[in-house]
Amino acid sequence: MNAFTAADWHARADALQFRNRAFIDGRFVDAVSGETFEATSPVDGRVLAEVAACDREDVDRAVASARRAFEDGRWRSRTPAERKRVLLAFAELIRTNGEELALTETLDMGKPISDALSIDVRATANCFAWYAEAIDKIYDEIAPTGEADIAMITREPLGVVAAVVPWNFPMIMAAWKLAPALASGNSVVLKPAEQSSLTALRLAELAVEAGIPEGVFNVVTGFGPTAGKALGLHMDVDGVFFTGSTEVGKLFMQYAGQSNLKKVGLECGGKSPNVILGSYSDIDGAAETAAGAIFFNQGEMCTAGSRLIVERSVHERVVERIAAVAATRQPGDPLNPSTQMGALVDETHTKRVLGFVDAAREDGATIAAGGERARVESGGCYVQPTVFDNVANDMRVAREEIFGPMLSVIPVDDAEEAAKVANDTCYGLAAAVWTDDINTAHKFARTLRAGMVYVNCYDADDISVPFGGYKQSGIGRDKSLHAFDKYTELKTTWIKLR
Ligand code: NAD
Repeated sequence: MNAFTAADWHARADALQFRNRAFIDGRFVDAVSGETFEATSPVDGRVLAEVAACDREDVDRAVASARRAFEDGRWRSRTPAERKRVLLAFAELIRTNGEELALTETLDMGKPISDALSIDVRATANCFAWYAEAIDKIYDEIAPTGEADIAMITREPLGVVAAVVPWNFPMIMAAWKLAPALASGNSVVLKPAEQSSLTALRLAELAVEAGIPEGVFNVVTGFGPTAGKALGLHMDVDGVFFTGSTEVGKLFMQYAGQSNLKKVGLECGGKSPNVILGSYSDIDGAAETAAGAIFFNQGEMCTAGSRLIVERSVHERVVERIAAVAATRQPGDPLNPSTQMGALVDETHTKRVLGFVDAAREDGATIAAGGERARVESGGCYVQPTVFDNVANDMRVAREEIFGPMLSVIPVDDAEEAAKVANDTCYGLAAAVWTDDINTAHKFARTLRAGMVYVNCYDADDISVPFGGYKQSGIGRDKSLHAFDKYTELKTTWIKLR
């Protein structure tokens, strides 16, 4: 697949046709209002498509379609083995259409084409395949109530599941929710972020091609405060599962409280600490990984290791090494297969991210690398990989999620101070520590208040492990078998034997 050159990808991009209307009841439809919005590419500023701007009436139609499909059992009543077969076919279609999906993702949200192919497409297909493989191997339970009774504990699908997702990994974030939801028999309504609607629409079309019945997988495109809010407040949605900012995550809890107390799952923001202890034997290796932990995906990562907490004894060396890596990871054309850093998602976000350079200076941090806009002549949204040094943990660049390629380096005196600073945040998504000592590793892992703790690595990942946050980073877990807990209800059926 990677045999394509940048010129090949550009030629394919020029010929690409995008799906741009909502997908309801197995068909592409305009928004009831006829309204659309522009999908603009951050690669070069070109308009890719006019996308349906859905609102409450469209959401009502999508939810009604999902409800009908759920009630008549066209998907839920199939055996787990049958659902498995269809979802495996879907995963295979994602793979065979991988180049088109990857190219669409790159054009729509700016990530390098090599990452879109090797990470986004692969992980999305793998996620659907993994939950497909799991669903016919999970047993229900009988409780140990004694000989006179049988108390069965069974799992049932929630019903109509809404998924509201962000733009940084549009397909993967959707797959983490849709795969366990569909495998367990729910009908779904997906609302992609308005910055990245296009792959969701193609996925829905492929789902029907794979054999997922019409009405089981619906997509409403549109804005958060209209389409997203309508899903959150809908009286006939049984659960809403959200990935995005903590601020909007809190709104979804309010929507549930104001409507039908639907189940809410939240995967929210982070300001994750990455601790390098001075005694660690491979400081350069740790520094290089730390650079990847903030610069990968243009820093648009909920788990980004955005606060690097370093013991003073190795501080200078670590910053030098990271600045050297930054110099080799300058933004490039996302359609060039050798590019490692692409474009930020859009102009608004780019301006917000660059605003943190001023905040860093005003608060007294120094700029050890980057800090400028890049590739201005392209018409796209590019920012240099940036390192803020001598950051104190109360500065804005240490407290607020930047969601761009900007690292805050916080020097500390010792391991004890490092642990304290690491936990001094409202977030709790990921954390890491670099140490050769097994005792220190375990102690840190226990102390760090985060859903994922990495020791001598960062962002190690597999679909088999849970993903989610402590504190204001969220509620519940995506991935792994634990994700089924979110998309199923437990039912106790008690039978008195005569
Ligand atoms: P966002 O919260 O602005 O938007 C996420 C989704 O919510 C979008 O679909 C958006 O349209 C919708 N939305 C926005 N306002 C809404 C409203 N008032 N009512 C209902 N829906 C609304 O987030 P974003 O900018 O798209 O993504 C970046 C954020 O996502 C970061 O905070 C990042 O940390 C987080 N994120 C978290 C994870 C995780 O798994 N924890 C993964 C990826 C991204």
